[in-house]
Amino acid sequence: MNAPIAIIGTGIAGLSAAQALHAAGQDIELFDKSRGSGGRMASKRSDAGSLDLGAQYFTARDRRFVEVVQQWQTRGWAAEWQPSLYNAQDGQLSASPDEQVRWVGSPRMSAITRAMLGALPVRFNCRITEVFRGDRYWSLLDADGNSHGPFSHVIVATPAPQASALLAAAPKLAGAAASVVMEPTWAVALGFDSALDTRVEGCFVQDSAIDWLARNRSKPGRDNHLDTWILHASSAWSRQHLDLAREAVIEQLHGAFAELIGCTVPPPSFTLAHRWLYARPAQAHQWGALADADLRLYACGDWCLSGRVEGAWLSGQDAARRLLEHLQ
Ligand SMILES: Cc1cc2nc3c(=O)[nH]c(=O)nc-3n(C[C@H](O)[C@H](O)[C@H](O)COP(=O)(O)OP(=O)(O)OC[C@H]3O[C@@H](n4cnc5c(N)ncnc54)[C@H](O)[C@@H]3O)c2cc1C
Repeated sequence: MNAPIAIIGTGIAGLSAAQALHAAGQDIELFDKSRGSGGRMASKRSDAGSLDLGAQYFTARDRRFVEVVQQWQTRGWAAEWQPSLYNAQDGQLSASPDEQVRWVGSPRMSAITRAMLGALPVRFNCRITEVFRGDRYWSLLDADGNSHGPFSHVIVATPAPQASALLAAAPKLAGAAASVVMEPTWAVALGFDSALDTRVEGCFVQDSAIDWLARNRSKPGRDNHLDTWILHASSAWSRQHLDLAREAVIEQLHGAFAELIGCTVPPPSFTLAHRWLYARPAQAHQWGALADADLRLYACGDWCLSGRVEGAWLSGQDAARRLLEHLQ
């Protein structure tokens, strides 16, 4: 029997692995607990248009990732974002132009993962709770009690805290995943009927509840009819206010935004708050991907490398490469 490979997670890491394995002629099946793909690169459709609540932009440094981003750009999935950038410190806003090339999905962040997924077989709304092995093959159990399989290999491509439980059959891998601390982030979107009187399109913030803000509709191709802004709270603030009610989070971050943006901020006509419990790993690692080749169990994700989109993509490639090496 030729059983397919299961991949749990359709963020950029899982899809990077899926594409590499599919290109090598392997059968794969993807699973995700969410309604769609993208994970932390997803965009939220809302009354104010689609909003990038997670990853804001990404950079490309590794040659392999640079090449793939160029392909995404040629296909129209990604575009360069050239925001008018600022720094805010001690209540002072200052222009902070730099040479960094910043990429975003086009016309929304999720365009990239959606295109990568293409027609690959996937089950959404399917939260995997257990990965277990029979004599030779793996099976997956989901939160509704259904089992899926058999699979020849399993790649776990979820954030580390969720991965450690799914890797229980390989205690070394589970232990490595369990050692990764991931920081939370509260994200708030505000929409204003008329454009705020500011040139700011992106701003790194110090000494505030907020550590980053961006004018969502300054990104290429966005469909926002309102002047939409995304605010990210700092990890420290998010940790301290993890269980604060959404309305209170919006009120406090709106207040911090009004204080630092340097122009009149009217009451927003649209608001939304989203809590990312596992936004980013506290530290980078150099693992590439985790593998137990004998068990045929693998793990990948941003937490295995840089904690960024590029790291997640590279980690997925690494998981696929190690799996394919062992097949030969
Ligand atoms: C607020 C925020 C801001 C960020 N800003 C940037 C930035 O500016 N630049 C940058 O490069 N990076 C940024 N990042 C980080 C970047 O988004 C991530 O590094 C990258 O998207 C991680 O991809 P991944 O595939 O490893 O994980 P994820 O995108 O988290 O994908 C994991 C997937 O697994 C699914 N899943 C989890 N558990 C299960 C389960 N039990 N069963 C089934 N499915 C499951 C999830 O639904 C998810 O779709 C940011 C992240 C956040 C949250």
